[in-house]
Amino acid sequence: MPLLEGSVGVEDLVLLEPLVEESLLKNLQLRYENKEIYTYIGNVVISVNPYQQLPIYGPEYIAKYQDCTFYELKPHIYALANVAYQSLRDRDQDQCILITGESGSGKTEASKLVMSYVAAVCGKGEQVNSVKEQLLQSNPVLEAFGNAKTIRNNNSSRFGKYMDIEFDFKGSPLGGVITNYLLEKSRVVKQLKGERNFHIFYQLLAGADAQLLKALKLERDTTGYAYLNQETSRVDGMDDASSFSAVQSAMAVIGFSEEEIRQVLEVTALVLKLGNVMVADEFQANGIPASGICDGRGVQEIGELVGLSSEELKRALCSRTMETAKEKVVTALNVMQAQYARDALAKNIYSRLFNWIVNRINENIKVGIGEQKKVMGVLDIYGFEILEDNSFEQFVINYCNEKLQQVFIEMTLKEEQEEYKREGIPWTKVDYFDNGIICNLIEHVTYNVTSFIDKNNDLLFRDLSQAMWKAQHPLIRSLFPEGNPKQASLKRPPTAGAQFKSSVAILMKNLYSKNPNYIRCIKPNEHQQRGQFSSDLVATQAQYLGLLENVRVRRAGYAYRQGYGPFLERYRLLSRSTWPRWNGGDREGAEKVLGELSISSGELAFGKTKIFIRSPRTLFYLEEQRRLRL
Ligand code: ADP
Ligand code: MG
Repeated sequence: MPLLEGSVGVEDLVLLEPLVEESLLKNLQLRYENKEIYTYIGNVVISVNPYQQLPIYGPEYIAKYQDCTFYELKPHIYALANVAYQSLRDRDQDQCILITGESGSGKTEASKLVMSYVAAVCGKGEQVNSVKEQLLQSNPVLEAFGNAKTIRNNNSSRFGKYMDIEFDFKGSPLGGVITNYLLEKSRVVKQLKGERNFHIFYQLLAGADAQLLKALKLERDTTGYAYLNQETSRVDGMDDASSFSAVQSAMAVIGFSEEEIRQVLEVTALVLKLGNVMVADEFQANGIPASGICDGRGVQEIGELVGLSSEELKRALCSRTMETAKEKVVTALNVMQAQYARDALAKNIYSRLFNWIVNRINENIKVGIGEQKKVMGVLDIYGFEILEDNSFEQFVINYCNEKLQQVFIEMTLKEEQEEYKREGIPWTKVDYFDNGIICNLIEHVTYNVTSFIDKNNDLLFRDLSQAMWKAQHPLIRSLFPEGNPKQASLKRPPTAGAQFKSSVAILMKNLYSKNPNYIRCIKPNEHQQRGQFSSDLVATQAQYLGLLENVRVRRAGYAYRQGYGPFLERYRLLSRSTWPRWNGGDREGAEKVLGELSISSGELAFGKTKIFIRSPRTLFYLEEQRRLRL
């Protein structure tokens, strides 16, 4: 077999010869340079970020892929989405789409392509369309509050997201549930070189009209805000002002009331203003150093914004109450502690606001209990990151990715084995997937342990949550239920790390119950540039995605399988015995067709209900023959 077939390499890496890393990279590169960004490994889609708008999306392409089987057209995310949706609708199989890859590789864009494909092909009618709109409009809202410019990606998701889209028995969408994972809240108060805070802050300042700004007691210029002026404030090609109106109308479509939108913006403004609250040295009467708030006006404005006495807020920021069974002791915080308290409060308000927004969206898109439903889950979880200073967030991100890799390995194996068994086809054991690479990455990278403990322990001082609970602002108040003295339990909430670990476990269980579909995203260069393909960079990703091993598994088995009925329906025109009329059984018909085309028996296995074809090459041949006859 030639190394490269035609001018754009092989469309399925199963056809790669020789099967070594070099040829795999070459193949991806050649295709990438030809703007062929998608390549298969069997039913897995590899996607290399094009960093440019390609003319391969939209209604016309959706229509094409909707009418075809998987191998008929060029590799595409639409083909994968189509298979997943059809198996869900016609075969009652719950599906999950697992999208992995490092930051900036195109996961979120891929998840949006899947969602828009499914939205375009599933059901019609006014009711259905409004459900679709709500599901789709959740993206701009979550991106505004959960995405930020990083050095790797101008629109980097700083939270993990899993979304179940639920369908009725006909395959029309009913609604969904979004689960979010671990927002990177440290970004609210501190950004790395060349990065920004969450988009919404800039969008709000750029897009709010003068009246709204005044009502929120904000100024338009970002440079006046301590949480926004540390690094850059502009992103090339991003229009914050127009995004702001898009976010507002998306919220309205989802079903946020005007009042709720206003409250969300007030809380956002509160976070910004909190960053400007200056803490300075002060001394207590006995000469012990303490802290005081020297920005009286700022605190007052915050108080006015959320209906809270400024004295109350000052006290909460600058002191800490310890309660024992017998007495209450109030200690003054020093300046560093008070600054820490202020930042902890800002981070907590923001991450709770984010959770609240997700819950609010869920309330509106949720499906009534008791309704029979089919489910398609889409997982877009932040990719593997190796930074110079690996902190707690990177650790949990990497932990999650390792888990996903395990799921991938186990599911691929399990799925193949089980199907062969069901169909009565002998299974030859393959030694594969070595998860060692990714485990090594996790174990050998050093993480910054000091900030680790800090972030993992990010408990809010009780004084602060109690102060927030006293606010008249309904939203702020509802974000701090533990501030209610009657509710305050002495039990410590689980740490962020423990919470995350258990939510990953729930996620894995959920994924195992569904039929998996994989999109493996690859970042071709570090500069967010079109046309550049760095082999070294791609090689690293190909290694930890285990692409080569994946191809080996695929080759050891059968690349394509199809029920006898649909198979015969599609190809019976290739044989004079089965065309134009065939009165025998499906399996016999399929045997006739394949026999007449003289396909070698080594290429085929006849299972109980399905025909198995070893290499995609044979399938391409069948398709070619079919095209010639049509
Ligand atoms: P990730 O979620 O993996 O961090 P994104 O999906 O946000 O990465 O992609 C980063 C950027 O790359 C996008 O903002 C977009 O500019 C570009 N991009 C990704 N996928 C595509 C695509 N299929 N077509 C065009 N541009 C893309
Ligand atoms: Mg993303």
